[in-house]
Amino acid sequence: MPNLDLIIIGAGAAGIGASRAATQAGLAHQVIEAAHRVGGRAYTEDLAPGVPFDLGCHWLHTTDINPLVPEADRLGVTIDRDFAFTAHLWLNGRHATPAETNAYGEYFGWAENGAALAPAAHEDRDVLSLLDTNSPYFAPYAHVFSVIHAADPDQVSARDAMDQVMNGGDWPVRDGLGRMMERLGAGMPVSLNTVAQEVDCSPRDHVVVRTNKGTLTARAVLVTVSIGILQSGLIRFRPVLPAATVSAIDGFSPGVANRVALYFDRDVFGDAPSNLTIVDGDAEPLAIHIPTFGFTYVVGQTGGRFASHLTRAGQKAATDYVLDRVSAVFGAGIRKHFVRSIVSAWDTDPWVLGAYASVKPGHFGARQALAQPVDGRLFFAGEAVGMPMVATCGGAYWSGTQAIGRIAAALQPA
Ligand SMILES: Cc1cc2nc3c(=O)[nH]c(=O)nc-3n(C[C@H](O)[C@H](O)[C@H](O)COP(=O)(O)OP(=O)(O)OC[C@H]3O[C@@H](n4cnc5c(N)ncnc54)[C@H](O)[C@@H]3O)c2cc1C
Repeated sequence: MPNLDLIIIGAGAAGIGASRAATQAGLAHQVIEAAHRVGGRAYTEDLAPGVPFDLGCHWLHTTDINPLVPEADRLGVTIDRDFAFTAHLWLNGRHATPAETNAYGEYFGWAENGAALAPAAHEDRDVLSLLDTNSPYFAPYAHVFSVIHAADPDQVSARDAMDQVMNGGDWPVRDGLGRMMERLGAGMPVSLNTVAQEVDCSPRDHVVVRTNKGTLTARAVLVTVSIGILQSGLIRFRPVLPAATVSAIDGFSPGVANRVALYFDRDVFGDAPSNLTIVDGDAEPLAIHIPTFGFTYVVGQTGGRFASHLTRAGQKAATDYVLDRVSAVFGAGIRKHFVRSIVSAWDTDPWVLGAYASVKPGHFGARQALAQPVDGRLFFAGEAVGMPMVATCGGAYWSGTQAIGRIAAALQPA
């Protein structure tokens, strides 16, 4: 018999949650991680000493049920519980009037809260087909949608979008959600720079995982890699995955979403709202975020096809693009205070190949199908199956902990 109960592939939020739960459940396990660090899409770098910036997840979403909220409190992590996203617009050279802000808020509420998407309950169609595209607020909404879903409205199943729970607050983490996840993952049994190349479930009573550093055997395996990695075929499965699992994996878009941080040597934003969507003629709108913790940086947020275009254009082009747009709002004078940028490119990160997964129109049910164990020994977790908090760090963590419950039950002697 193998000496391990479980191999966990991936040390992102799902892998960290799974490893912590496996330890509690008394499962002998090993985590293997392809990158040189834990955290995956939870990753913080410093723009300057003491100025942390999250290249991936930053907000604790769905705070009513997010399992990371109590973890943050336990670790003594500073979070802004008063933060709330607002529907502020910069409209062709000026702030929107209160009436325009209200009208945009109404459009946003209609589109997001299910009223617009209700027809999708009977037919699995794309979101775009249900939106009022003639509204002046369609363009900024579609941009924010692309940031939330990492895909454009025509690429997303409305039925799946309706299924997502957005209850509670959206709380930013002062020192970085990436750093917090790194702390949560400290001490777990992880082998870094270890790439799973093949998951072999063909032996009758154990699984074999072949890596660049050798072979591991265990009674079960939990795969937490992104949809982009699953779709790339970088990990071979033996025997081939069941048709339902393959079809589920194909039913997702891996997503593109990125964050461009511009750091200034002083506060150049004054009393600007912390969230503003810049609308300028026919140009792609840009949602910016100014942290509420007194840091002097701004983040440009991109999603969908435009984000993909910006990744291909390169880091300098992305920096220039956001600096131009932000200068149009705060004045050309801010340029002399610009110090440096950090630009994420998750869609080309070799261990992610995406951002967060959305379900393609016509593929509702992909999340539930992927969450089904294969042969009682092969399990999947991660943000894509983090129901009901999909596409989030908290949902990924939750999915890892939930998978351990199912694995522990499956491994019990009959
Ligand atoms: C730009 C951006 C902004 C975001 N903002 C937020 C936010 O504000 N709040 C929020 O809650 N969520 C946010 N998210 C989503 C959140 O970051 C993810 O949902 C979550 O971190 C995913 O965790 P995971 O464990 O499912 O996957 P991952 O973090 O991708 O972890 C999987 C791990 O598997 C490893 N791996 C890949 N291939 C192999 C292999 N062959 N062998 C071994 N290891 C492998 C990877 O290196 C990675 O570490 C954001 C994401 C992005 C990209």
